[in-house]
Amino acid sequence: MGYREFRSDTMTRPSQAMRQAMAAAEVGDDVCGEDPTVHRLEEMAAALLRMEAALFVPSGVFANQCAIGVHCQPGEEIIVSESAHVVAHESGAAALLSGVQLRAVVPARERYLTPQDVEPRIRVGEDVHHPRTRLIILENALSDGTVMPVEAMAEMARVADNHRVSIHLDGARVFNAALALDVAPCELSRHADSVSFCLSKGLGAPIGSLLCGAKEFIHRARRRRKAMGGGMRQVGVLAAPGLLALEEGRRRLGEDHRRARDLAVGLAALPCVRVDLDAVQTNMVYAHLDHPTLSETDLVERLWRRDIRVYPPLPEGIRFVLSSEVGDEDVAAVIEAVRGILRR
Ligand SMILES: *Cc1c(COP(=O)(O)O)cnc(C)c1O
Repeated sequence: MGYREFRSDTMTRPSQAMRQAMAAAEVGDDVCGEDPTVHRLEEMAAALLRMEAALFVPSGVFANQCAIGVHCQPGEEIIVSESAHVVAHESGAAALLSGVQLRAVVPARERYLTPQDVEPRIRVGEDVHHPRTRLIILENALSDGTVMPVEAMAEMARVADNHRVSIHLDGARVFNAALALDVAPCELSRHADSVSFCLSKGLGAPIGSLLCGAKEFIHRARRRRKAMGGGMRQVGVLAAPGLLALEEGRRRLGEDHRRARDLAVGLAALPCVRVDLDAVQTNMVYAHLDHPTLSETDLVERLWRRDIRVYPPLPEGIRFVLSSEVGDEDVAAVIEAVRGILRR
């Protein structure tokens, strides 16, 4: 292949074992509830998060939007961080598909929403002017790879309970978060009414996400999934690599976290490179360059010339994402490449 892939953990390609599992998968018509491999995947997901039921859907966006559509009626309001995926990266789907209003809040104290951000914004009473607050959406891990502590989630759950508002956890990387926080994944899901997570990121499956929740919620989500065009037929061929993602992919996430740390420490030691090491909590590293003549865009361009793939710089810096596509030698190669570029 000749290149080193640091753009995203969505770039992970299925392993040989996953391809074999796809070929061998036992299948049936899942819209009719007859795909045994999908059943196994949904049961495993629900068990891992200790929720009653789960639903296999095409993507993380799909899972979030399906959840929003089940939790909310058109015209209702969701409180969510301004930087959340549903606000910034889902093509306006919450308005488009569910007719809801996103109350996007910039967290005042932490990277994540705290009760101080949320509670004053929950609308109470029956004022005809007000949209009804229905849902809080949290992320863990956050899109920047940092995590929300368990106690912060518990506090938010208490606030939500008091006001009879539900919580959806966008847990696209919930297993990374659990690992970083050193807790079982169910310690995060227990503070939410519904949880979505991606099989197709660091877990390594080619496609797919799961939406988890109470039986009645998932029953309604199944109907909503069909309405959104997400009823898939012999989709056991995609659930099969998903099972491997949960069984085996999950076990190797720690390697990505360790390599993220190695990369962060290596880059931080270089002149003109700035890395907030405290913010390296899962599989992402953000690096800033403070150089008299070389911009972050220049650096990215030069890395590409050395076959190191990273996205154009963000306001938060140049992002490096660790995944099964990346080994120790790739981490060492990036550090050496940046060192070489800076020396010129
Ligand atoms: C990637 C991601 C999603 C969406 O997943 P897709 O499978 O790409 O649709 C949702 N939320 C967060 C926080 C993510 O990182």
